[in-house]
Amino acid sequence: MKVGLVYDDLFLQHKPGDYHPERPERLIKIRERLQQEDLAPWISWLAPRRANKEEILWNHSEAYYERVASTAGKPYVQLDPDTATSEASFEAALHAVGAQFVALDELFRENFRSVFCLVRPPGHHAEYDRAMGFCLFNNAALAAHYALKVLKFSRVLLVDWDLHHGNGTQHSFYPHPEVLYFSTHQFPYYPGTGRLEEVGQGEGTGYTVNVPLPAGCGDAEYLAVFEEILRPVARAFRPEVVIVSAGFDPYEEDPLGGMRVSSKGFGALAGVVREIAEESAEGKVLLTLEGGYSLSGLAESVAQVIRVLAGADKPEIKGEPSAKFRQYLEDIKRFFSRYWPL
Ligand SMILES: [Zn+2]
Repeated sequence: MKVGLVYDDLFLQHKPGDYHPERPERLIKIRERLQQEDLAPWISWLAPRRANKEEILWNHSEAYYERVASTAGKPYVQLDPDTATSEASFEAALHAVGAQFVALDELFRENFRSVFCLVRPPGHHAEYDRAMGFCLFNNAALAAHYALKVLKFSRVLLVDWDLHHGNGTQHSFYPHPEVLYFSTHQFPYYPGTGRLEEVGQGEGTGYTVNVPLPAGCGDAEYLAVFEEILRPVARAFRPEVVIVSAGFDPYEEDPLGGMRVSSKGFGALAGVVREIAEESAEGKVLLTLEGGYSLSGLAESVAQVIRVLAGADKPEIKGEPSAKFRQYLEDIKRFFSRYWPL
């Protein structure tokens, strides 16, 4: 089965600075890899559309929208210690959001079972009223809003396997049980949120599932978390669509991270997500690119994910989590067993 890939050269025009790790070459490398003959026949390239202001305001304040809009045409504006814009960043950000909507429309019409949004800037740190951590508008959160408001889905599973915690996404749906936010992230680390005890509030209590992880976790540890926590939680929640904040900075040689996930490991995680989607969501999976700063690791990791989404077997992961990690995992399962059948 073919995988949809939403991309536009406009995403290369967001330039946060010459020495910034979140740079256009990331997408160029991924595209080169996906055009190789082992993958090219499995991919259909799709164009994004431009999200409009009304859509952005589903997740952001009008003052913040205007702040980002005011950067258009300016060579350099710093919005946050880590986040800057260039002339075309606002346009790129609107299209990164619009890419999500195109992807969801394609899934809804059953033209594809999975669509990958190859976009910049990323989104999961973006808050209601400010830019943060390389992110302008929250692509994944806006995807979830679109799924609920426009496509009338009632249960959205949002899986965030980026190295960092998606503070912005968590805050967008903290009191809402319609969106189950599940995140694995290095902890303690930037941005500082994502403690186990952050479980949502009010009716949304239990619908934020944070699994903070110590540095050094690799394929076996991540896969154990996905199999033993994410899978049973998702089975009980029964999502109608699955959205993945796909960051590849847990990769073993990422310059910003301290994790040890291999490119095949990401393929295995994508396999679990695919199976979850097949159980209750007719296979519908949207993935959107977040972080990942090792150029070669990023490209090969995305390739492994696309292979699995196109129907290849999940890569086999060798090894077991350490006894210490196993104990940690049991403690986390016990913690969440008050909300979910673990
Ligand atoms: Zn990240």
